[in-house]
Amino acid sequence: MVRFQVKRPVNVDEARGAKLMEALGILERVVNSEAFRNRVIAHPAYTWDEGLSSEQIYNRLIWGTPSPTPGGLGVPRIVFFDYELVPRPWYKSERVIGWRIANTNDIFTYLDSFDDMTPAELASHLGHEIVGHLAGEFGHPEKAGDVRDRSVPYVIDGFIEELAPQFVKPGRSEAA
Ligand SMILES: [Zn+2]
Repeated sequence: MVRFQVKRPVNVDEARGAKLMEALGILERVVNSEAFRNRVIAHPAYTWDEGLSSEQIYNRLIWGTPSPTPGGLGVPRIVFFDYELVPRPWYKSERVIGWRIANTNDIFTYLDSFDDMTPAELASHLGHEIVGHLAGEFGHPEKAGDVRDRSVPYVIDGFIEELAPQFVKPGRSEAA
């Protein structure tokens, strides 16, 4: 099991903080679900997979290692991150929602995107950055296209988006 904790929120007021917490709750319920595990493992061909199998990719996303020890599985992994909401400069395309700075735990989201997204949509954006890039340490090419679409952060972003509506309310989960 993996949990997410904001260490240092910047430019996050009370209402936005509540939305962020709601999104993180959805994200935790989604990525710790059986449905998410099944989808990640069943996906056949990731790009930028660093030579790992789909199951090893899943393990690295959740546990931080391709081969977790049985003893380690009982202890939740906590992924800390710093989070900042940034006003969008006029020259920045609205297709960019946010980013993570490589080799740091700094995650940024444009303020207008943050305000426009539902908590479920925010959960999938955060899943791309926090789970794909930060927790799993997977990358992708900058250039849009098929190779990027099939990278781990983009594929799991899609799974989270697909599953999120079922996990909006605590305690509800996908029907078998
Ligand atoms: Zn990315």
